[in-house]
Amino acid sequence: MATLAPERGQRWDDIVRQVGREYQALPATERTWISLALVRIATLQVELDGLFCGASGEGLCADCAGACCAKGHNHATLTTLLMFLDRDVAPPAADFTRTCPWLGEQGCVLAADRRPYNCITFVCDKIEQRLTAAELHRFYQLDRELRACYQAFADRYPGAGMTGLLLRAARLEGRSFFDCRAEITSQESI
Ligand code: SF4
Ligand code: SF4
Repeated sequence: MATLAPERGQRWDDIVRQVGREYQALPATERTWISLALVRIATLQVELDGLFCGASGEGLCADCAGACCAKGHNHATLTTLLMFLDRDVAPPAADFTRTCPWLGEQGCVLAADRRPYNCITFVCDKIEQRLTAAELHRFYQLDRELRACYQAFADRYPGAGMTGLLLRAARLEGRSFFDCRAEITSQESI
């Protein structure tokens, strides 16, 4: 993996720059749609994280040093990046020499409300068995609603999707992450 790290790092930096430029050029109506959709996503993710923390998830994950975070480089999507652009903050530096570029010494460097969908909705057996039946039901209810929110981005923008941004960008072959569909659908409600 280390040998792929420089190339992945370069591609990621190029993507961040391109998405940033294209985001700034979006019509205000489109950026408003994005903001509102991201507020809903953040709310759902914070509640999911509350269930995870209530089941001692933080301590358990620290003990196993993020074993399930391998391949994390394919979890961040266009929606993940937009969570930072929408708040006018730079995304944290990505270190592609790690199993996941956002896995720091103290765990994930992405706050719960900005973590990729695959990450915030995954709990292993160790954590799941600490959730009550009611909590588990709520967890999967939130998961379904959250997935629909991410799918709305995927339906709207060719650069979004449930697959990671590195893979998505390669499939675009230089085309815009947002494309003209943004203009067509800018008046749609979220
Ligand atoms: S979810 Fe489970 S496997 Fe993944 S880091 Fe946490 S404890 Fe480890
Ligand atoms: S983004 Fe965070 S939670 Fe997701 S795989 Fe990477 S370190 Fe793990």
